[in-house]
Amino acid sequence: MRYRTYFRAVVTAPEYDVLIVGAGPAGSACALALAGSGLRVGLLDKACFPRDKVCGDAIPGPTLKALARLNPLYAEELRQLTRPHRTDVCISRLVSPQGQQMRVSWQAPAFNSPRLHFDEALLTLVRRHTAAEIRENSPVKKVVATATGVVVTLADGRVLSARLVIGCDGANSVVGRCLVPHPLNRQRHCAAVRAYYQGVTDAPETTSDFLFLRRYRAGYCWVFPVGSGLYNVGFGMLSEDIARGKVDLKLVLSELLNTHPDLATRFRHARQLGPVQGFGLPLGGSRRPLTGPRALLCGDAAALIDPLQGHGIDKAVISGILAAEHARRCCQAEDFSPASLRKYAVAVDQRFGSELRFRYGLMRWLARAPWVVEAAFRLSRWPWLQRRLVRAVG
Ligand SMILES: Cc1cc2nc3c(=O)[nH]c(=O)nc-3n(C[C@H](O)[C@H](O)[C@H](O)COP(=O)(O)OP(=O)(O)OC[C@H]3O[C@@H](n4cnc5c(N)ncnc54)[C@H](O)[C@@H]3O)c2cc1C
Repeated sequence: MRYRTYFRAVVTAPEYDVLIVGAGPAGSACALALAGSGLRVGLLDKACFPRDKVCGDAIPGPTLKALARLNPLYAEELRQLTRPHRTDVCISRLVSPQGQQMRVSWQAPAFNSPRLHFDEALLTLVRRHTAAEIRENSPVKKVVATATGVVVTLADGRVLSARLVIGCDGANSVVGRCLVPHPLNRQRHCAAVRAYYQGVTDAPETTSDFLFLRRYRAGYCWVFPVGSGLYNVGFGMLSEDIARGKVDLKLVLSELLNTHPDLATRFRHARQLGPVQGFGLPLGGSRRPLTGPRALLCGDAAALIDPLQGHGIDKAVISGILAAEHARRCCQAEDFSPASLRKYAVAVDQRFGSELRFRYGLMRWLARAPWVVEAAFRLSRWPWLQRRLVRAVG
């Protein structure tokens, strides 16, 4: 029976023009950008929304900007939908390994919002504004390219077909594994853990804290307010260093909250809500291929996370929108050749490539030269120098 369905999917006309796997920021943005295209769009996710995603919950400013450029209504509605579960952040407080502090005020609007609510709000926009067929609770197990498209097999044996698949399925992408395989490089990969806390003292709702550590250089600890008196608290570092030092991230986070001079008193009466959870961050700036037979990759599946800050939601949204533009072009021209698909990779590289490569190099250099970090903190006391530094790394 299963083979008959599979065979039918291979020989008959594909049921979707574009199948987006993953309804996180990349997938939802991609579906929004395909609204009104006239294409038959499917949006699959293994989870049922609202669903949690291990993250720092800091929504970078370019995320809203990119959505507003698509349609000003999207940014406005997203602001409204996230209002009960959001805090607007205008200050970053950075603490150096030796305890020097730097406060940076931001003009551009940015906010923190738990991904449980933020991703649900994005998907609500897709439900409201697009004709995409949303299929939750649909884990993809296998993707195979054929002469006419792709055949996608779900974990329960259901089979779907499309002319093009867009892999927005995150750091452990099945689409990537099946159609655009690439080995994991620990030098270009981070791992991080986070937990939610309540009752943190001396932690204004408008300020995100970044703490750099003497012992763990390529990484940092964060305390981000996420509204309603909740804090997203985490620690992440380069996977290569984790493997080399056999670092237990959960243990380190717990030690930091108990002993770090900037944290111990503030967390004395804090209460942890839920477990400490971890996940991987594929860093940008690598030469990971972004296209394969009948396939494009976006967001974490395409390894686009900012190596310096660990932010990837903005890049996920922007790459999702770019993929939608190229999916339209390929479908209209009936051209799914490697050369045609590769134009998407070129567009992503033009948008982020040099920035991500520069920031990866800077991250590695700063990790090797902690005195530069301390010198930068000292220089930041002069406002005009701070502005320059922030422009370079902000
Ligand atoms: C600890 C941590 C902290 C972070 N902090 C920040 C931060 O503060 N700010 C920031 O900008 N970025 C942060 N990031 C990075 C950010 O989480 C990612 O860059 C972002 O989520 C990428 O979005 P995406 O849509 O590509 O993937 P995801 O958000 O991972 O979404 C992928 C979707 O695909 C679905 N999926 C996965 N596999 C399948 C399958 N087989 N079949 C069907 N569906 C599937 C998942 O259920 C999920 O909904 C952090 C990451 C980590 C791990």
